[in-house]
Amino acid sequence: MTLIDISPVIDATISVWPGDTPFVRTINSDMHDGANLTLSDIRTSLHVGAHADAPSHYLAGGPDIAERCLDYYYLGQCVVVHIDIARGERITPDHIANKIEDICASRVLFRTGTFPDPRHWNTDFASLSPEVVDDLYHHGVRLIGIDTPSVDPFDSKALEAHHAFARNDMAMLEGLVLDGVEEGEYELIALPLRIKGGDASPVRAVLRTL
Ligand SMILES: [Zn+2]
Repeated sequence: MTLIDISPVIDATISVWPGDTPFVRTINSDMHDGANLTLSDIRTSLHVGAHADAPSHYLAGGPDIAERCLDYYYLGQCVVVHIDIARGERITPDHIANKIEDICASRVLFRTGTFPDPRHWNTDFASLSPEVVDDLYHHGVRLIGIDTPSVDPFDSKALEAHHAFARNDMAMLEGLVLDGVEEGEYELIALPLRIKGGDASPVRAVLRTL
């Protein structure tokens, strides 16, 4: 068994959604300067790097990240699917028509390659159609992850895919790094922090080979 880390390194150079709070780590006490210990704090958008959105991010009155069932995120069967898609497009049921029968897990991660560098923001990343979210739900899927910053297009205000997650009570992971990850079956571990009221949480997402 091998662990594959599918989380980007988080430091001041990681890009966050334009206008959102960037990641800043402040060192308050430093052993390099003679202190008896090193101590730091961070300020950041909760949507930094690989992260789980809570329903409260896109559904008024929806549960926050601390209230979410951990079964979504912890140690379960997961299928990685490569999608050949143009920049800026939504993944539709057609894109997975010949792969859906291979998706025999309740978690699916899509590798699109359309947000290649977490340190350089591009707005034309691929996203999900609400139809593919609904189809996967009916197929038994409960978590969908993607290697882009959002399951909806950059300029979407209606957030149709987010709302498909809400109506199906599904979980999402955004900002994954799936470069070099082969298509196939794995186990996923991507636990969010128990942040009361949190609209999201960074996760350390890893895949375990079977
Ligand atoms: Zn998010």
